[in-house]
Amino acid sequence: MKNPYLLLTPGPLSTTNSVRQAMLRDWCTWDNEYNQLVQDIRRRLVGLATSHKDLYTAVLMQGSGTFCVEATIGTVMPKDGGKLLIAANGAYSDRIVQMCHVLGIHAVVISLDEREPIQAEAIERLLQEDEDITHVAIVHCETTTGMLNPIEDVCRLAKQYNKITMVDAMSSFGGVPMDVHKLHIDFLISSANKCIQGVPGFGFVIAKRDELAKCKGNGRSLSLDLFDQHDTMEKDEGKWRFTSPTHVVRAFYQALLELEAEGGVDARFKRYEQNQKRLVEGMKEIGFEALLDEQHQSPIITSFLYPDDSNFTFQDFYQSLKKRGFVIYPGKISEVNTFRIGNIGEVYIEDIERLLEAIQQTVQLKEVVRA
Ligand SMILES: *Cc1c(COP(=O)(O)O)cnc(C)c1O
Repeated sequence: MKNPYLLLTPGPLSTTNSVRQAMLRDWCTWDNEYNQLVQDIRRRLVGLATSHKDLYTAVLMQGSGTFCVEATIGTVMPKDGGKLLIAANGAYSDRIVQMCHVLGIHAVVISLDEREPIQAEAIERLLQEDEDITHVAIVHCETTTGMLNPIEDVCRLAKQYNKITMVDAMSSFGGVPMDVHKLHIDFLISSANKCIQGVPGFGFVIAKRDELAKCKGNGRSLSLDLFDQHDTMEKDEGKWRFTSPTHVVRAFYQALLELEAEGGVDARFKRYEQNQKRLVEGMKEIGFEALLDEQHQSPIITSFLYPDDSNFTFQDFYQSLKKRGFVIYPGKISEVNTFRIGNIGEVYIEDIERLLEAIQQTVQLKEVVRA
């Protein structure tokens, strides 16, 4: 089936026909065949995350990406004596701060404007000043703006000071090359419907085995207990504690095969990067400026400033592009008006060229109407 529009959104995103077709059968959740599939997925995920496969494990968790972040924060932070440092420059890091409030976790926050990159020096200062800090959390690609945060520097520093690291790599894992071991990441969180290009329904955590092993009994929620979920998946070899999203899991397996067939994360990164660069260049020709400097920009999603034209409304722009077969994303930052265009998913340079044409037409049409 052909979709009525191409999703240029940061997940759920446009998937292949074959990923969607993989959902057309039912599975028994305790049958060995299904559990083997789950185990295969877990092994493949660890393989995508690091070359030190014996040190890490993968836990799958029902729900959207946020459920996985909350499961991780809520299970990794000790019940007594833990303090989490959060570097926040967008809605997704703010969400981690919010989770800490809800779960009663001590947090210290470096709060930045969404356009401001995180500085490792500021993190180091806090690590020196506040010895109570036990953990550090950071978002890799802040999907709010498209900014790529310096996880390499931040996690290296955190380890220098003996802290546990948690990285929300929701919108970058599978699309940006990384090795969790080399990056000193203890817990990395992502989900099915972002760069792996599956459909929504579950997320996953790549966890350092010996760190996860220390988290027994920390869970602040029964269903979001990452330790227990992992324990069952290990002991019962691929069994989820509660009903698993079987069709979504099967589609995800297909998506993993397709990632491999494309040439792995490196090849996917190149495609996204090519899409993103062409997009910014073409948009500039039409008269739209990107919010961020190229240096901080991820290949995942780009924020564009509204044009100076006072007649510009996002709603009209959105509707006009939707009519032409493209769905884009509103902005999410407070200080300036922006909209966002994603490059992840089943999206190729030809699609970006077609999009640019549609945007050109939309802009011209408006000028004609006004003249
Ligand atoms: C998508 C995303 C999430 C999770 O969002 P859900 O709506 O719960 O799937 C978390 N962090 C980042 C950086 C994301 O891009």
